[in-house]
Amino acid sequence: MIDSCSLEKSPLLTVDNALEKIRAAIQPVSDSETVTLKTALGHVLAEAVYSPNPIPHERNSAMDGYAFASCDVINEQPFTLTLIGTSWAGKPFQGQLQAGQCVRIFTGAVVPEQADSVIMQEHIQRDGQQVHFSAHTKPYQNVRAIGEDVQQGGLLCTQSKKLTAVDMALLATAGVSEVSVRRAINIAIFSTGDELIALGQPLATGQIYDSNRTLLTGLLSDACYQIADLGVIADNKHALTDAFTAAAKNYDVIISTGGASVGEADYVKDVLTECGQINFWKLAIKPGKPLTFGTIGACYFFGLPGNPVSAQVTFQKIVAPALQQLTGATATQPLQLTATCTTALKKSAGRQEFQRGILTQTATGELLVATAGQQGSNILSALSIANCYIMLPSDNQGVAVGDKVLIELFNVFF
Ligand code: AMP
Ligand code: MG
Repeated sequence: MIDSCSLEKSPLLTVDNALEKIRAAIQPVSDSETVTLKTALGHVLAEAVYSPNPIPHERNSAMDGYAFASCDVINEQPFTLTLIGTSWAGKPFQGQLQAGQCVRIFTGAVVPEQADSVIMQEHIQRDGQQVHFSAHTKPYQNVRAIGEDVQQGGLLCTQSKKLTAVDMALLATAGVSEVSVRRAINIAIFSTGDELIALGQPLATGQIYDSNRTLLTGLLSDACYQIADLGVIADNKHALTDAFTAAAKNYDVIISTGGASVGEADYVKDVLTECGQINFWKLAIKPGKPLTFGTIGACYFFGLPGNPVSAQVTFQKIVAPALQQLTGATATQPLQLTATCTTALKKSAGRQEFQRGILTQTATGELLVATAGQQGSNILSALSIANCYIMLPSDNQGVAVGDKVLIELFNVFF
């Protein structure tokens, strides 16, 4: 256990070091539950899913056209076949196809057993029941083979996959109607600060609206998270101790914002030192230096800075990967790209910075990034128009117009 005094003297952690500590500290939830496929979107698979059926499970046509046996015709020469019936999607052709015959067929319809080839309707001439084909047939053309997508028993989705809409469609097409997923994580969120009031009340002097719980509610909106908004706690050590220890008994995770620094009214670190265990405090990043991570009993605790931009950056860089690990999902890395900076950026050496930027792409595909404006940790408007972080390493001492910078997208819609 670390005491408050030695903590104050400990060096600032880099994001990479903090993430190493998180990886070592967090145990993924192991409980699982069976849910219907309809409700599985965004949940994490507790076990791999294999296909009970081959996909497709019958040979079917990829086109609207005419089906026949390719061995009946001489390739490279025009030929004529007699039409003897139709295979509809959902209503297969019932008869037997003989030499010299063909069947009208529609996309998705079962290809008759004797047939192995489908020619598109655009490539034939009809004359009553006589169908004239120009030439160039190949066995298996436009015929979807049994199991060509997934073999029976083949892997559909890996264990720990967070299910997307496409995964759900894949499972549905294989006939899988329910899946075993890890249980959701119960997360309590608090704001701390005497100045905070809820929306809907008039602002008295010295008060501000609490925006961080709204921010966190949005950032945590995910099928894997069950959020309880436990309101605002005053800047009072006893109130914080009571609120955090009570929540720690009922939730997997507590996320609080504010009171995380070293001001006279910043008690979060002290409370965690007394009623739990601190793993780390303070990062070598800007914005977001004061961030407390630790545990209270079996509950993980994240004390984020109060400034909204700092809260967002520390959430995305530290809390989001930690929560992802807790859900048991396969770890993912944010995509990083190199872009040409079109504005000069100020920075002094010492801390890694996540400046807010606006990424654009030129007609020729070049990536350009400009500052999103004021970089204060209270400036939500610049964060709102930004679509990326400009990642400046700790030893960087500023960026000139035309320099290449590393960026990380957070809103990938342009
Ligand atoms: P603190 O981390 O408590 O020192 O707060 C740093 C700054 O963030 C102060 O200007 C606070 O008023 C502001 N702040 C703290 N909590 C919130 C919140 N929930 N919503 C908006 N601003 C906040
Ligand atoms: Mg405060």
